Amino acid sequence: MYDPQEILGAAKAILPVLPKLLDEPTANQLQAQLNSHLATQDIAKIWETLEQSPQTQRWRSKYLNQEVATRSVSQLAGDMVAQPSGLIYACPHCDYRDVIFLLGMDPDPCSDHPDAVLHRV
Ligand SMILES: [Zn+2]
Repeated sequence: MYDPQEILGAAKAILPVLPKLLDEPTANQLQAQLNSHLATQDIAKIWETLEQSPQTQRWRSKYLNQEVATRSVSQLAGDMVAQPSGLIYACPHCDYRDVIFLLGMDPDPCSDHPDAVLHRV
């Protein structure tokens, strides 16, 4: 299980990138939900909110994996974090999104369009 602080951290970090992960109405809706759950510190509701789309699920699991990885190794790994909300890459053919938190890593290809070149958004 993840630490509640890490889930709160994920919710705060994803807020500014929701417009890059989702279409505008969905991003606005999830931002409003997350802000109200952050205000009440409702971890279960935050988790559910991040579960509502494949894009946010993917972002969440990568964020938390990165948190666990940096927690368990030296300070050096902490210095490798590019930015808390990550760099978002998009498939040009569909709504697939991937995120990179550590400098020098490549985004995972879109499973439906493996030859597509993902672009930063
Ligand atoms: Zn695609």
